[in-house]
Amino acid sequence: MKMKTGMKMPLGSKHAKILVLMAKDSREDELDCESVAENMDSYAEYVLNSGESSRLILLIENHLKLCKDCAEEFKLLLGALKASERLL
Ligand SMILES: [Zn+2]
Repeated sequence: MKMKTGMKMPLGSKHAKILVLMAKDSREDELDCESVAENMDSYAEYVLNSGESSRLILLIENHLKLCKDCAEEFKLLLGALKASERLL
């Protein structure tokens, strides 16, 4: 394999910045509160019916451990769901 010469890309600060942005984008290990709220019912279903855990489930679980607000909201949702299940 012949290497192309004369294609030296300058690895300046611009390039480094792009790499940092890419690294940030690929950090999908944390959800924001909005995403958690959107998917909270799926998570409740998983908890109540011991459903299959997905990547999203794990991410929500992780967020609930870190975020008091969402954890509280989830507690309320779970309580409401449990109460409605008892009525069925
Ligand atoms: Zn949150």
